[in-house]
Amino acid sequence: MKPKHVVIIGAGLGGLECGYILSKNGMRVTVLEHDHVVGGCLQSFRRGNTLFDTGFHYIGGLEEGQSLHGLFRYFGLLNLPWRKLDEQCFDEVVIGNRSFSFANGHERFRETLTMAFPHEKEGLRRYTEVLKRVGEHLPDTFLPAGTVCKQGDNYFTDSLFARSAYEFLCDTIHDPLLRKVLSGTSLKMELDMDTLPLYVFAQINNSYIQSAWRIDGGGQQLVDRLAEQIRINGGQVLTSATVTSIIEREGKAIGVRVNKDEFIEADYVIAAQHPQAVMQLLTDSPSIRKVYRRRIASLQNSFGMFTANIQLKDGANMYENKNIYVHRQNADMWHVNGQEAESVLVNFYHGQDAVDLLTPLRWEAVAQWSMMPQGRRGQDYVEFKEQKTEECLRVVENRLPQLRGMIEKVYTSTPLSYQNYTLTHHGAAFGIKKDYRSPLTTVLSPRTPLENLYLTGQNLNLHGVLGVSMTAVLTCAELLGMETLAEQLDVKHWNK
Ligand SMILES: Cc1cc2nc3c(=O)[nH]c(=O)nc-3n(C[C@H](O)[C@H](O)[C@H](O)COP(=O)(O)OP(=O)(O)OC[C@H]3O[C@@H](n4cnc5c(N)ncnc54)[C@H](O)[C@@H]3O)c2cc1C
Repeated sequence: MKPKHVVIIGAGLGGLECGYILSKNGMRVTVLEHDHVVGGCLQSFRRGNTLFDTGFHYIGGLEEGQSLHGLFRYFGLLNLPWRKLDEQCFDEVVIGNRSFSFANGHERFRETLTMAFPHEKEGLRRYTEVLKRVGEHLPDTFLPAGTVCKQGDNYFTDSLFARSAYEFLCDTIHDPLLRKVLSGTSLKMELDMDTLPLYVFAQINNSYIQSAWRIDGGGQQLVDRLAEQIRINGGQVLTSATVTSIIEREGKAIGVRVNKDEFIEADYVIAAQHPQAVMQLLTDSPSIRKVYRRRIASLQNSFGMFTANIQLKDGANMYENKNIYVHRQNADMWHVNGQEAESVLVNFYHGQDAVDLLTPLRWEAVAQWSMMPQGRRGQDYVEFKEQKTEECLRVVENRLPQLRGMIEKVYTSTPLSYQNYTLTHHGAAFGIKKDYRSPLTTVLSPRTPLENLYLTGQNLNLHGVLGVSMTAVLTCAELLGMETLAEQLDVKHWNK
Protein backbone atom coordinates (compact mmCIF):
# COMPACT_ATOMS: atom_id res chain seq x y z
CA MET A 1 0.00 0.00 0.00
CA LYS A 2 1.24 3.50 -0.85
CA PRO A 3 2.33 5.31 2.33
CA LYS A 4 0.25 8.31 3.34
CA HIS A 5 1.84 11.64 2.43
CA VAL A 6 2.01 14.27 5.18
CA VAL A 7 2.96 17.86 4.37
CA ILE A 8 4.20 19.83 7.37
CA ILE A 9 4.25 23.62 7.22
CA GLY A 10 7.23 25.00 9.14
CA ALA A 11 10.57 23.43 10.10
CA GLY A 12 10.77 24.79 13.63
CA LEU A 13 11.07 22.33 16.49
CA GLY A 14 7.36 21.40 16.37
CA GLY A 15 7.22 20.70 12.64
CA LEU A 16 10.45 18.70 12.64
CA GLU A 17 9.46 16.62 15.65
CA CYS A 18 6.18 15.74 13.92
CA GLY A 19 8.16 14.91 10.76
CA TYR A 20 10.45 12.69 12.82
CA ILE A 21 7.58 10.77 14.45
CA LEU A 22 5.57 10.27 11.27
CA SER A 23 8.52 9.32 9.04
CA LYS A 24 9.63 6.84 11.69
CA ASN A 25 6.16 5.35 11.48
CA GLY A 26 6.28 4.75 7.74
CA MET A 27 4.57 7.88 6.46
CA ARG A 28 5.98 9.91 3.56
CA VAL A 29 6.86 13.31 5.02
CA THR A 30 7.57 16.64 3.35
CA VAL A 31 8.48 19.54 5.64
CA LEU A 32 8.27 22.99 4.01
CA GLU A 33 10.15 25.89 5.58
CA HIS A 34 9.78 29.52 4.56
CA ASP A 35 13.27 30.54 5.73
CA HIS A 36 16.50 29.50 4.00
CA VAL A 37 17.49 27.43 7.05
CA VAL A 38 15.52 25.10 9.32
CA GLY A 39 14.94 25.77 13.00
CA GLY A 40 12.53 28.68 13.44
CA CYS A 41 13.15 29.96 16.98
CA LEU A 42 15.89 27.36 17.46
CA GLN A 43 18.12 28.75 14.71
CA SER A 44 21.70 29.59 15.59
CA PHE A 45 23.47 32.28 13.60
CA ARG A 46 27.07 33.39 13.18
CA ARG A 47 28.40 36.91 13.51
CA GLY A 48 32.15 37.00 12.88
CA ASN A 49 33.55 34.04 14.78
CA THR A 50 30.72 33.94 17.30
CA LEU A 51 27.74 31.59 17.16
CA PHE A 52 24.62 33.04 18.77
CA ASP A 53 21.29 31.40 19.51
CA THR A 54 17.88 32.83 18.69
CA GLY A 55 15.38 31.19 21.03
CA PHE A 56 17.32 28.52 22.82
CA HIS A 57 19.17 29.27 26.02
CA TYR A 58 18.60 26.38 28.35
CA ILE A 59 16.26 23.50 28.98
CA GLY A 60 15.33 21.47 32.04
CA GLY A 61 14.63 17.88 33.03
CA LEU A 62 17.06 15.90 30.85
CA GLU A 63 18.04 13.23 33.35
CA GLU A 64 16.38 9.83 33.55
CA GLY A 65 12.95 10.02 35.18
CA GLN A 66 12.73 13.78 34.53
CA SER A 67 10.31 15.74 32.32
CA LEU A 68 12.15 15.90 29.00
CA HIS A 69 14.20 12.71 29.19
CA GLY A 70 11.69 10.27 27.68
CA LEU A 71 10.84 12.64 24.84
CA PHE A 72 14.45 13.44 23.96
CA ARG A 73 15.43 9.77 24.17
CA TYR A 74 12.70 9.04 21.61
CA PHE A 75 13.77 11.94 19.37
CA GLY A 76 17.44 10.86 19.54
CA LEU A 77 18.46 14.18 21.09
CA LEU A 78 20.09 13.00 24.30
CA ASN A 79 23.56 12.47 22.87
CA LEU A 80 24.23 16.09 21.93
CA PRO A 81 26.91 18.17 23.71
CA TRP A 82 24.72 19.06 26.70
CA ARG A 83 26.37 21.02 29.48
CA LYS A 84 24.83 20.76 32.92
CA LEU A 85 24.52 24.09 34.71
CA ASP A 86 25.80 24.54 38.24
CA GLU A 87 23.60 22.32 40.45
CA GLN A 88 24.03 24.62 43.45
CA CYS A 89 22.95 27.64 41.42
CA PHE A 90 21.68 27.08 37.89
CA ASP A 91 19.75 30.36 38.03
CA GLU A 92 20.74 33.42 40.02
CA VAL A 93 18.04 35.97 40.70
CA VAL A 94 19.27 39.47 41.47
CA ILE A 95 16.74 41.97 42.81
CA GLY A 96 18.23 45.38 43.53
CA ASN A 97 21.39 44.58 45.47
CA ARG A 98 20.33 41.15 46.78
CA SER A 99 21.09 37.86 45.10
CA PHE A 100 19.36 34.47 45.43
CA SER A 101 20.30 31.02 44.14
CA PHE A 102 18.07 28.39 42.56
CA ALA A 103 19.54 24.92 43.17
CA ASN A 104 18.69 21.67 41.41
CA GLY A 105 16.60 19.01 43.11
CA HIS A 106 13.40 19.86 44.91
CA GLU A 107 14.87 19.39 48.35
CA ARG A 108 18.02 21.40 47.66
CA PHE A 109 15.97 24.10 45.92
CA ARG A 110 13.76 24.41 48.99
CA GLU A 111 16.60 24.30 51.50
CA THR A 112 18.66 26.94 49.66
CA LEU A 113 15.78 29.40 49.61
CA THR A 114 14.75 28.52 53.17
CA MET A 115 18.18 29.75 54.30
CA ALA A 116 17.33 33.18 52.90
CA PHE A 117 13.66 33.02 53.99
CA PRO A 118 13.52 30.83 57.16
CA HIS A 119 10.04 32.17 58.01
CA GLU A 120 8.74 30.71 54.71
CA LYS A 121 9.86 27.13 55.33
CA GLU A 122 6.31 25.76 55.16
CA GLY A 123 5.36 27.90 52.14
CA LEU A 124 8.42 26.72 50.23
CA ARG A 125 7.60 23.11 51.12
CA ARG A 126 4.10 23.49 49.69
CA TYR A 127 5.40 25.37 46.64
CA THR A 128 7.94 22.70 45.69
CA GLU A 129 5.49 19.87 46.44
CA VAL A 130 2.97 21.28 43.97
CA LEU A 131 5.58 21.82 41.24
CA LYS A 132 6.96 18.32 41.77
CA ARG A 133 3.49 16.80 41.58
CA VAL A 134 2.70 18.62 38.35
CA GLY A 135 5.92 17.19 36.87
CA GLU A 136 5.03 13.69 38.06
CA HIS A 137 1.73 13.97 36.20
CA LEU A 138 3.37 14.94 32.90
CA PRO A 139 3.15 11.36 31.51
CA ASP A 140 -0.67 11.52 31.97
CA THR A 141 -0.65 13.77 28.89
CA PHE A 142 0.07 10.66 26.84
CA LEU A 143 -2.49 8.32 28.33
CA PRO A 144 -4.45 6.64 25.55
CA ALA A 145 -8.13 7.65 25.57
CA GLY A 146 -10.19 5.53 27.95
CA THR A 147 -7.22 4.56 30.15
CA VAL A 148 -8.30 4.02 33.72
CA CYS A 149 -5.84 5.97 35.78
CA LYS A 150 -5.35 6.69 39.44
CA GLN A 151 -8.26 8.61 40.89
CA GLY A 152 -8.07 12.26 40.04
CA ASP A 153 -5.07 12.00 37.66
CA ASN A 154 -6.59 13.59 34.56
CA TYR A 155 -8.60 15.99 36.62
CA PHE A 156 -5.45 17.12 38.39
CA THR A 157 -3.66 18.15 35.20
CA ASP A 158 -6.72 19.61 33.46
CA SER A 159 -7.76 21.58 36.51
CA LEU A 160 -4.39 23.34 36.67
CA PHE A 161 -5.09 25.01 33.33
CA ALA A 162 -8.08 26.59 35.07
CA ARG A 163 -6.14 27.82 38.12
CA SER A 164 -4.32 31.10 38.42
CA ALA A 165 -0.54 30.86 38.82
CA TYR A 166 -0.49 34.21 40.58
CA GLU A 167 -3.16 33.22 43.11
CA PHE A 168 -1.30 30.00 43.81
CA LEU A 169 1.86 31.99 44.48
CA CYS A 170 0.06 34.44 46.77
CA ASP A 171 -1.79 31.65 48.63
CA THR A 172 1.41 29.70 49.18
CA ILE A 173 4.02 32.38 49.84
CA HIS A 174 3.38 35.37 52.11
CA ASP A 175 6.67 37.26 51.91
CA PRO A 176 6.43 39.65 48.91
CA LEU A 177 10.19 39.46 48.30
CA LEU A 178 10.12 35.67 48.11
CA ARG A 179 7.20 35.86 45.69
CA LYS A 180 9.36 38.09 43.52
CA VAL A 181 12.30 35.75 43.78
CA LEU A 182 10.18 32.74 42.74
CA SER A 183 8.84 34.78 39.82
CA GLY A 184 12.30 36.08 39.01
CA THR A 185 13.40 33.38 36.56
CA SER A 186 10.25 33.54 34.59
CA LEU A 187 11.29 35.54 31.56
CA LYS A 188 10.75 32.15 29.96
CA MET A 189 6.99 32.78 29.98
CA GLU A 190 4.80 35.85 30.22
CA LEU A 191 3.89 36.31 33.85
CA ASP A 192 0.47 37.87 33.63
CA MET A 193 -1.50 37.80 36.86
CA ASP A 194 -4.80 38.01 34.95
CA THR A 195 -4.18 35.07 32.64
CA LEU A 196 -1.27 32.71 33.40
CA PRO A 197 -2.49 29.20 34.29
CA LEU A 198 -0.77 27.39 37.14
CA TYR A 199 -0.08 24.47 34.79
CA VAL A 200 2.22 26.54 32.53
CA PHE A 201 4.04 28.13 35.47
CA ALA A 202 4.50 24.86 37.36
CA GLN A 203 5.33 22.46 34.52
CA ILE A 204 8.01 24.73 33.05
CA ASN A 205 9.60 25.82 36.32
CA ASN A 206 9.54 22.27 37.66
CA SER A 207 11.57 20.91 34.75
CA TYR A 208 14.39 23.38 35.46
CA ILE A 209 14.39 22.57 39.17
CA GLN A 210 14.94 18.93 38.18
CA SER A 211 18.09 19.79 36.21
CA ALA A 212 19.19 22.59 33.86
CA TRP A 213 21.22 22.33 30.64
CA ARG A 214 22.87 24.43 27.97
CA ILE A 215 24.19 23.09 24.72
CA ASP A 216 27.73 23.68 23.47
CA GLY A 217 27.73 24.70 19.81
CA GLY A 218 24.17 26.06 19.46
CA GLY A 219 20.52 24.99 19.60
CA GLN A 220 20.58 24.52 15.82
CA GLN A 221 22.01 21.05 16.48
CA LEU A 222 18.60 19.84 17.73
CA VAL A 223 16.76 20.80 14.58
CA ASP A 224 19.58 19.71 12.25
CA ARG A 225 19.55 16.29 13.92
CA LEU A 226 15.78 15.95 13.47
CA ALA A 227 15.93 17.08 9.82
CA GLU A 228 18.73 14.62 9.10
CA GLN A 229 16.73 11.77 10.63
CA ILE A 230 13.64 12.66 8.58
CA ARG A 231 15.77 12.44 5.42
CA ILE A 232 17.24 9.11 6.54
CA ASN A 233 13.65 7.90 7.02
CA GLY A 234 12.93 8.82 3.39
CA GLY A 235 11.31 12.21 3.99
CA GLN A 236 12.13 15.65 2.57
CA VAL A 237 12.88 18.91 4.36
CA LEU A 238 12.78 21.84 1.94
CA THR A 239 13.85 25.40 2.77
CA SER A 240 12.89 28.66 1.01
CA ALA A 241 9.51 26.99 0.51
CA THR A 242 6.76 29.27 1.79
CA VAL A 243 3.30 27.76 1.91
CA THR A 244 0.97 30.40 0.50
CA SER A 245 -2.32 28.50 0.78
CA ILE A 246 -3.82 25.29 2.03
CA ILE A 247 -5.97 23.62 -0.61
CA GLU A 248 -9.17 21.78 0.29
CA ARG A 249 -11.80 19.74 -1.50
CA GLU A 250 -15.16 18.68 -0.09
CA GLY A 251 -14.24 19.68 3.44
CA LYS A 252 -10.84 17.97 3.48
CA ALA A 253 -7.32 19.36 3.17
CA ILE A 254 -5.77 17.86 0.05
CA GLY A 255 -2.48 19.74 -0.21
CA VAL A 256 -0.72 23.09 -0.18
CA ARG A 257 0.47 25.67 -2.63
CA VAL A 258 4.13 26.65 -2.26
CA ASN A 259 5.56 30.03 -3.22
CA LYS A 260 2.19 30.87 -4.85
CA ASP A 261 3.00 28.39 -7.57
CA GLU A 262 3.65 24.71 -7.05
CA PHE A 263 0.85 22.45 -5.73
CA ILE A 264 1.91 19.64 -3.41
CA GLU A 265 -0.73 16.99 -2.83
CA ALA A 266 -1.09 15.51 0.64
CA ASP A 267 -3.24 13.07 2.60
CA TYR A 268 -2.68 15.17 5.72
CA VAL A 269 -1.41 18.69 6.35
CA ILE A 270 0.13 19.71 9.67
CA ALA A 271 0.54 23.43 10.25
CA ALA A 272 3.37 24.08 12.69
CA GLN A 273 3.19 27.85 12.66
CA HIS A 274 1.04 30.39 14.47
CA PRO A 275 -2.70 29.54 14.10
CA GLN A 276 -3.48 33.18 13.20
CA ALA A 277 -1.08 32.73 10.25
CA VAL A 278 -2.75 29.40 9.39
CA MET A 279 -6.08 31.21 9.02
CA GLN A 280 -4.46 33.44 6.39
CA LEU A 281 -3.66 30.33 4.33
CA LEU A 282 -7.34 29.42 4.36
CA THR A 283 -8.98 32.71 3.44
CA ASP A 284 -11.61 31.17 1.14
CA SER A 285 -12.21 27.98 3.07
CA PRO A 286 -15.92 27.19 3.50
CA SER A 287 -14.97 24.64 6.19
CA ILE A 288 -13.62 27.23 8.60
CA ARG A 289 -16.64 28.93 10.06
CA LYS A 290 -16.65 32.54 11.18
CA VAL A 291 -16.93 31.52 14.82
CA TYR A 292 -13.65 29.51 14.65
CA ARG A 293 -11.91 32.35 12.77
CA ARG A 294 -13.11 34.85 15.36
CA ARG A 295 -11.93 32.62 18.18
CA ILE A 296 -8.44 32.29 16.68
CA ALA A 297 -8.27 36.00 15.81
CA SER A 298 -9.23 36.98 19.36
CA LEU A 299 -6.40 35.05 21.03
CA GLN A 300 -3.85 37.26 22.75
CA ASN A 301 -0.14 36.81 22.11
CA SER A 302 2.68 36.83 24.63
CA PHE A 303 5.19 39.64 24.68
CA GLY A 304 8.10 39.65 22.27
CA MET A 305 11.75 39.90 23.20
CA PHE A 306 14.52 42.42 22.73
CA THR A 307 17.86 40.67 22.49
CA ALA A 308 21.33 42.15 22.52
CA ASN A 309 23.80 39.52 21.30
CA ILE A 310 27.11 40.83 22.55
CA GLN A 311 30.49 39.85 21.17
CA LEU A 312 33.06 40.40 23.91
CA LYS A 313 36.71 41.28 23.52
CA ASP A 314 39.04 38.31 23.09
CA GLY A 315 39.96 36.84 26.46
CA ALA A 316 37.08 38.58 28.27
CA ASN A 317 36.53 35.26 30.00
CA MET A 318 33.19 36.15 31.59
CA TYR A 319 31.60 32.70 31.36
CA GLU A 320 29.44 31.64 34.32
CA ASN A 321 27.84 28.21 34.36
CA LYS A 322 24.39 29.58 35.19
CA ASN A 323 21.86 32.14 34.04
CA ILE A 324 21.54 35.46 35.79
CA TYR A 325 18.18 37.20 35.95
CA VAL A 326 18.69 40.79 37.05
CA HIS A 327 15.74 42.95 38.11
CA ARG A 328 15.49 46.54 39.17
CA GLN A 329 14.49 46.87 42.83
CA ASN A 330 10.95 47.89 41.92
CA ALA A 331 10.49 45.67 38.88
CA ASP A 332 6.96 44.34 38.55
CA MET A 333 7.52 40.84 37.22
CA TRP A 334 3.82 40.17 36.76
CA HIS A 335 3.25 43.14 34.53
CA VAL A 336 5.56 44.11 31.68
CA ASN A 337 5.09 47.84 31.39
CA GLY A 338 6.41 48.15 27.85
CA GLN A 339 8.46 51.17 28.81
CA GLU A 340 11.97 50.99 30.18
CA ALA A 341 13.65 47.59 30.65
CA GLU A 342 13.31 46.42 34.27
CA SER A 343 14.29 42.77 34.06
CA VAL A 344 17.11 41.25 32.04
CA LEU A 345 18.25 37.68 31.48
CA VAL A 346 22.00 37.27 31.03
CA ASN A 347 22.88 34.18 29.01
CA PHE A 348 26.46 32.96 28.66
CA TYR A 349 28.04 30.87 25.89
CA HIS A 350 30.53 28.25 26.99
CA GLY A 351 33.80 28.44 25.02
CA GLN A 352 32.99 31.82 23.44
CA ASP A 353 33.56 35.40 24.50
CA ALA A 354 29.90 36.30 24.16
CA VAL A 355 26.76 36.97 26.19
CA ASP A 356 23.12 37.72 25.42
CA LEU A 357 20.96 40.21 27.26
CA LEU A 358 17.21 39.61 26.88
CA THR A 359 14.32 41.71 28.06
CA PRO A 360 10.59 41.54 27.23
CA LEU A 361 9.40 43.96 24.58
CA ARG A 362 5.86 44.48 23.42
CA TRP A 363 4.93 44.63 19.74
CA GLU A 364 3.42 48.09 20.22
CA ALA A 365 6.90 49.47 20.92
CA VAL A 366 8.09 48.56 17.41
CA ALA A 367 4.84 48.51 15.42
CA GLN A 368 5.59 51.93 13.88
CA TRP A 369 8.48 50.36 11.90
CA SER A 370 6.63 47.19 10.90
CA MET A 371 5.74 48.31 7.37
CA MET A 372 9.33 49.19 6.51
CA PRO A 373 11.65 46.64 4.90
CA GLN A 374 14.29 45.04 7.08
CA GLY A 375 17.58 46.91 7.06
CA ARG A 376 15.85 50.11 5.93
CA ARG A 377 13.87 51.08 8.99
CA GLY A 378 15.67 54.35 9.46
CA GLN A 379 17.84 56.07 12.02
CA ASP A 380 15.14 56.30 14.69
CA TYR A 381 14.82 52.49 14.76
CA VAL A 382 18.61 52.21 15.11
CA GLU A 383 18.48 54.70 17.98
CA PHE A 384 15.58 52.84 19.61
CA LYS A 385 17.65 49.64 19.62
CA GLU A 386 20.70 51.45 20.99
CA GLN A 387 18.53 52.90 23.74
CA LYS A 388 17.19 49.41 24.66
CA THR A 389 20.73 48.02 24.76
CA GLU A 390 21.73 50.85 27.07
CA GLU A 391 18.73 50.15 29.35
CA CYS A 392 19.71 46.47 29.57
CA LEU A 393 23.32 47.35 30.36
CA ARG A 394 22.17 49.70 33.10
CA VAL A 395 20.00 46.98 34.68
CA VAL A 396 22.87 44.47 34.84
CA GLU A 397 25.77 46.79 35.66
CA ASN A 398 25.73 46.21 39.44
CA ARG A 399 26.02 42.47 38.98
CA LEU A 400 28.39 42.56 35.99
CA PRO A 401 30.33 45.83 36.33
CA GLN A 402 33.06 44.62 33.94
CA LEU A 403 30.65 43.92 31.05
CA ARG A 404 30.50 47.39 29.51
CA GLY A 405 34.28 47.61 29.19
CA MET A 406 34.45 44.19 27.53
CA ILE A 407 32.04 44.86 24.66
CA GLU A 408 33.45 44.40 21.17
CA LYS A 409 30.24 44.52 19.14
CA VAL A 410 26.48 44.37 19.76
CA TYR A 411 23.86 42.82 17.46
CA THR A 412 20.26 43.43 18.35
CA SER A 413 16.87 41.98 17.51
CA THR A 414 13.31 42.98 18.34
CA PRO A 415 9.88 41.38 17.81
CA LEU A 416 10.12 42.73 14.24
CA SER A 417 13.15 40.50 13.61
CA TYR A 418 11.30 37.44 14.96
CA GLN A 419 8.28 38.22 12.81
CA ASN A 420 10.53 38.54 9.74
CA TYR A 421 12.53 35.38 10.24
CA THR A 422 9.96 32.98 11.70
CA LEU A 423 6.69 34.63 10.56
CA THR A 424 5.67 34.49 14.24
CA HIS A 425 2.69 36.74 14.69
CA HIS A 426 3.85 40.05 16.20
CA GLY A 427 7.13 38.34 17.10
CA ALA A 428 5.44 36.83 20.17
CA ALA A 429 8.22 35.01 22.01
CA PHE A 430 5.94 32.31 23.42
CA GLY A 431 2.96 32.42 21.06
CA ILE A 432 -0.62 32.45 22.25
CA LYS A 433 -1.20 33.32 25.89
CA LYS A 434 -3.09 30.64 27.78
CA ASP A 435 -5.76 32.06 30.06
CA TYR A 436 -6.87 30.23 33.19
CA ARG A 437 -10.23 32.03 32.98
CA SER A 438 -10.96 30.43 29.61
CA PRO A 439 -8.76 27.35 29.16
CA LEU A 440 -11.16 25.78 26.69
CA THR A 441 -10.69 28.72 24.33
CA THR A 442 -6.99 29.39 24.74
CA VAL A 443 -5.61 25.85 24.90
CA LEU A 444 -6.01 24.64 21.33
CA SER A 445 -6.63 21.14 20.04
CA PRO A 446 -4.45 19.80 17.21
CA ARG A 447 -7.69 19.17 15.29
CA THR A 448 -9.19 21.89 13.12
CA PRO A 449 -12.64 22.17 11.53
CA LEU A 450 -11.01 21.22 8.21
CA GLU A 451 -10.64 17.46 8.05
CA ASN A 452 -7.04 16.25 7.63
CA LEU A 453 -5.60 19.61 8.69
CA TYR A 454 -3.89 19.56 12.10
CA LEU A 455 -2.01 22.09 14.18
CA THR A 456 1.13 21.72 16.26
CA GLY A 457 3.83 23.88 17.89
CA GLN A 458 4.15 26.22 20.83
CA ASN A 459 0.77 27.88 20.41
CA LEU A 460 -1.36 24.90 21.34
CA ASN A 461 -0.61 23.69 24.84
CA LEU A 462 2.66 24.67 26.38
CA HIS A 463 5.54 26.62 24.84
CA GLY A 464 9.29 26.10 25.02
CA VAL A 465 11.25 23.02 24.06
CA LEU A 466 9.38 20.85 26.58
CA GLY A 467 5.92 22.09 25.59
CA VAL A 468 6.54 21.88 21.83
CA SER A 469 7.90 18.33 22.18
CA MET A 470 4.84 17.24 24.18
CA THR A 471 2.52 18.85 21.64
CA ALA A 472 4.25 17.14 18.68
CA VAL A 473 3.31 13.80 20.24
CA LEU A 474 -0.29 14.93 20.80
CA THR A 475 -0.59 16.05 17.16
CA CYS A 476 0.90 12.85 15.74
CA ALA A 477 -1.33 10.78 18.03
CA GLU A 478 -4.24 12.11 15.97
CA LEU A 479 -2.82 10.17 12.98
CA LEU A 480 -1.16 7.20 14.66
CA GLY A 481 -3.18 6.71 17.83
CA MET A 482 -1.92 7.47 21.33
CA GLU A 483 -1.60 3.80 22.20
CA THR A 484 1.03 3.30 19.50
CA LEU A 485 2.96 6.39 20.49
CA ALA A 486 2.75 5.84 24.24
CA GLU A 487 4.25 2.41 23.67
CA GLN A 488 7.02 3.72 21.40
CA LEU A 489 7.81 6.42 23.94
CA ASP A 490 7.72 3.85 26.75
CA VAL A 491 5.69 6.33 28.80
CA LYS A 492 4.82 3.65 31.39
CA HIS A 493 8.39 3.68 32.65
CA TRP A 494 9.07 7.43 32.63
CA ASN A 495 8.64 8.05 36.32
CA LYS A 496 10.25 4.79 37.39
C1 LIG B 1 14.06 34.92 22.63
C2 LIG B 1 13.53 33.56 22.93
C3 LIG B 1 14.19 32.78 23.87
C4 LIG B 1 13.73 31.49 24.15
N1 LIG B 1 14.43 30.72 25.03
C5 LIG B 1 14.03 29.44 25.28
C6 LIG B 1 14.77 28.60 26.13
O1 LIG B 1 15.83 28.98 26.65
N2 LIG B 1 14.30 27.35 26.39
C7 LIG B 1 13.13 26.88 25.83
O2 LIG B 1 12.73 25.74 26.11
N3 LIG B 1 12.41 27.67 24.98
C8 LIG B 1 12.83 28.92 24.69
N4 LIG B 1 12.12 29.71 23.83
C9 LIG B 1 10.88 29.18 23.24
C10 LIG B 1 11.16 28.20 22.11
O3 LIG B 1 12.19 28.70 21.28
C11 LIG B 1 9.87 28.04 21.27
O4 LIG B 1 8.79 27.69 22.12
C12 LIG B 1 9.98 26.94 20.20
O5 LIG B 1 11.20 26.96 19.52
C13 LIG B 1 8.84 27.16 19.21
O6 LIG B 1 8.87 26.14 18.22
P1 LIG B 1 7.71 26.04 17.15
O7 LIG B 1 8.08 24.93 16.23
O8 LIG B 1 6.39 25.98 17.81
O9 LIG B 1 7.69 27.44 16.37
P2 LIG B 1 8.76 28.18 15.45
O10 LIG B 1 10.14 27.95 15.95
O11 LIG B 1 8.29 29.59 15.32
O12 LIG B 1 8.64 27.45 14.05
C14 LIG B 1 7.66 27.77 13.09
C15 LIG B 1 8.31 27.65 11.73
O13 LIG B 1 7.33 27.79 10.72
C16 LIG B 1 7.88 28.53 9.64
N5 LIG B 1 6.76 29.06 8.86
C17 LIG B 1 5.82 29.93 9.28
N6 LIG B 1 4.94 30.17 8.30
C18 LIG B 1 5.32 29.41 7.24
C19 LIG B 1 4.80 29.21 5.92
N7 LIG B 1 3.70 29.84 5.49
N8 LIG B 1 5.45 28.36 5.10
C20 LIG B 1 6.57 27.69 5.50
N9 LIG B 1 7.09 27.86 6.74
C21 LIG B 1 6.48 28.69 7.59
C22 LIG B 1 8.73 29.59 10.33
O14 LIG B 1 9.66 30.16 9.46
C23 LIG B 1 9.34 28.76 11.46
O15 LIG B 1 10.56 28.17 11.05
C24 LIG B 1 12.56 31.00 23.52
C25 LIG B 1 11.91 31.78 22.57
C26 LIG B 1 12.39 33.05 22.27
C27 LIG B 1 11.68 33.85 21.23
